[in-house]
Amino acid sequence: MTASGLSTTGLTKSFGGVRAVDGATVAFHHGKVNALIGPNGSGKTTFFNCVTGMIKPDAGTASYRGRDITGKAPHRIARAGIGRSFQLCRIFPRLTVLENMLVSVRTSSLLGKLISARQSADVDRARELLARVGIDHLEHAEARDLSYGQQKLLELAGVLMADPETIMLDEPAGGVNPALIDRIGKLVRSLNAEGKTFLIVEHNMDMVMSLSDHVVVFDRGRPIAEGTPAEVQEDPRVLEAYLGV
Ligand code: ADP
Repeated sequence: MTASGLSTTGLTKSFGGVRAVDGATVAFHHGKVNALIGPNGSGKTTFFNCVTGMIKPDAGTASYRGRDITGKAPHRIARAGIGRSFQLCRIFPRLTVLENMLVSVRTSSLLGKLISARQSADVDRARELLARVGIDHLEHAEARDLSYGQQKLLELAGVLMADPETIMLDEPAGGVNPALIDRIGKLVRSLNAEGKTFLIVEHNMDMVMSLSDHVVVFDRGRPIAEGTPAEVQEDPRVLEAYLGV
């Protein structure tokens, strides 16, 4: 058993009559690459949003490293060591790549971030991370001029600015070309080797199966199976959830 990382008990969130997350009890493996998969509408994004404080669950609890994070504000959850990316990339399109990196640094205001970051070691760190994700040659380009895959790499580099212990990625391969999917996969592996825990929602099964140590399968708002990629692929409940047989 791995040390306690992110876990939830009975997490529940409804929208009107729809129980998007329905009593989800899950423990992710700390220090590993975890994947959260499941058919469309099975509650993965809502689960992510509940855990990262974007929306408040109606019931249940979420904890991280032994601390209760249920319903806490996103910045507090980030401070506890969880960083996240978004399904539809969250970047500032009219800022340059480097400026986007600097605004990821947590200070009080956007302007404050730009001013203080320029004078600090943040610039060095930003450049180091841009090089790591392979887009340092684009530091002066406006983010909107990057390809979608490059924007995803920029978002990931921005998440890394805060040096989170756990990184949640929402569909990192979605809309990204195969070469960049490969690069994102290699980055996840190397960051994991350095101790980062990952929790990835992803539809690209090749990526999920080749990258993950542990897979949790959602259906109708709760986990129905979990295990290694090989184990979940053979689980009849998983086939049933996907194929509706
Ligand atoms: P997934 O990420 O697995 O595709 P979601 O969490 O996006 O699943 O959605 C789970 C269910 O909750 C779906 O039936 C979806 O239509 C519903 N849902 C999600 N977000 C909202 C919302 N903001 N308002 C109403 N219904 C929502």
